[in-house]
Amino acid sequence: MSEAKFNPELIAPCGMNCALCKAYNAYTHGVPTKKGKVTHCAGCLPRAKNCYIIRGCPKLRKQQIQSCSQCDSIPCEKLAHLDKRYRERYGMSMVENVKMIKEKGMVEFLKSQAERHSCPNCGSVVCVHDSKCYSCGYVRNKPSA
Ligand SMILES: [Zn+2]
Repeated sequence: MSEAKFNPELIAPCGMNCALCKAYNAYTHGVPTKKGKVTHCAGCLPRAKNCYIIRGCPKLRKQQIQSCSQCDSIPCEKLAHLDKRYRERYGMSMVENVKMIKEKGMVEFLKSQAERHSCPNCGSVVCVHDSKCYSCGYVRNKPSA
């Protein structure tokens, strides 16, 4: 199992692990883009994307902090909103992620991500958006909403 798949450079400020993202997997696996269906992204940090969370946070915007995990008041309203959507739709929690990074550190967090999101079939990564492993085609049963 390669550690590069669970990499601090792919952990977005909000706690999203871009390695699990559909747009990242489409990009790294060369899935053709399709308008409204398949987009490509190299990851929030590599792209330095000015996302909803960064735009909504003066501390992130002014680079006083690099990640929500460095914030004293987790979660703010914006992160809580994003978190709720992800918990309901994809069975993952940004708030849980940033709290774990804050309390246990990045190394432990990445280890838990690897345990939770590695493909049981090939050891690659199961995408959190469509529950699919882009490396071998394995499909995980959707968490019940
Ligand atoms: Zn796989």
